[in-house]
Formats: sequence, structure tokens, C-alpha cells
Amino acid sequence: MTESAIPASSEPEPQKAESKMAEPATPEMRVGQSFDIHRYSDDAERTLMLGGVRFDGHRGLAGHSDADVITHACIDALLSAAGLDDIGQMFSDTDPAWAGADSIQLLRRAVDALRAAGWDPVNVSCVAVLDSPKLAPQRELMRQRLSDAVGAPVTVSGRTTESVGALGRGEGVAAMAAALVVRNPHSTASSDDAALAGQQDQRHT
Ligand code: MG
Repeated sequence: MTESAIPASSEPEPQKAESKMAEPATPEMRVGQSFDIHRYSDDAERTLMLGGVRFDGHRGLAGHSDADVITHACIDALLSAAGLDDIGQMFSDTDPAWAGADSIQLLRRAVDALRAAGWDPVNVSCVAVLDSPKLAPQRELMRQRLSDAVGAPVTVSGRTTESVGALGRGEGVAAMAAALVVRNPHSTASSDDAALAGQQDQRHT
């Protein structure tokens, strides 16, 4: 029997059962990613700050603030996820207000701006690229400081350079981060309000 010879079924199509339960609303979530890099400073007085933790006995990084490259990467990933101004616009490196600034405090301000725009951090994952110092002994402390500032879990891991390129020659430290944010269901801020909140934060700071 050929396919065309198969008689069409006279059975009615089974009706799909209609769910009596309402579908749960899918939360609006967004991801952001970032990259930051700082060269080592020639200033012997500079302190190396990574993830909000002092690494005494190591050369500090150059920058307008405390040059905490790990915290900067976390800030920019969060701002990117929420569609806000980036760290350079929010905390200009020509503004004397941020000279020598504690980057953990900048992170707190960025999270405040993010929440004002109607977003809540879900988590941040950061990877730093450097050969020295080893992050492992301070990783838990960095995780605590960053998570406390963000109000959500922040993880930090380190990767060595395999002696490749400028980072392998010990010229600086780089960090990358990814952040996830979720729309606060109780927020009245619209997407346009989100952009406005970022601009207002920039003016006020
Ligand atoms: Mg930076």
C-alpha cells in the first residue's frame, strides 16, 4: 500500500488539555561582561589592591583610583548588564573626587545605581589574569568583600599567563567578569528610567 492510499483517519484530533494553572512569570534577566587591565605603577608607595584586599609586599597597579582591577571588572559587568553608563563615565578618571578612591566603595555606588534602575544583582563571576601574587590565599576574603558590596555572590578565580605577552612579562594585571541581574518585580523604574538613573548618578558623583 502506498502512502497516498492510507485512508485519512476519521478520529478527531485529541484536544490538548488546558492548564488550569497560570504559567509563572519568567523573571527578566540580563547578563553583562567586562574586561579591565592596569599596568604596574612605578610609584613604590602604591599598594596592590585586588578584590578589595591589600596584597602587601607587591608592587601596586597604576590608576586614578586604587586601581583594583578585579573590583573594576565586577563594576563594569554589573553596569553593562543593567544597561547603565560604564565605569569610566560613572567615575571619571579626571574627577579629583575619585583620586585614590576605594574601589569597593565605587562598587557599592554602582550597585546603588543599578538597584535604583530597577535591577538586582544575581551573581558575578570574575577571572583575574596574573602570575603573581597567587590569589588563592586571599580568595575567600576577596569573595567576602565583593559579595558584601554587591549583596549577591561574587566569585574570583585566577589564571596564570603561561608567560604570554605583556601580562606574562609582568607589566600589569587583567581581569574579566560576567554578571547576571534580574528585574526587581516591585520596581517602578522603566528602561528609560534606568538610563536616566545612570545619568543622574554620574552628575551627582
Ligand atoms: Mg580599571
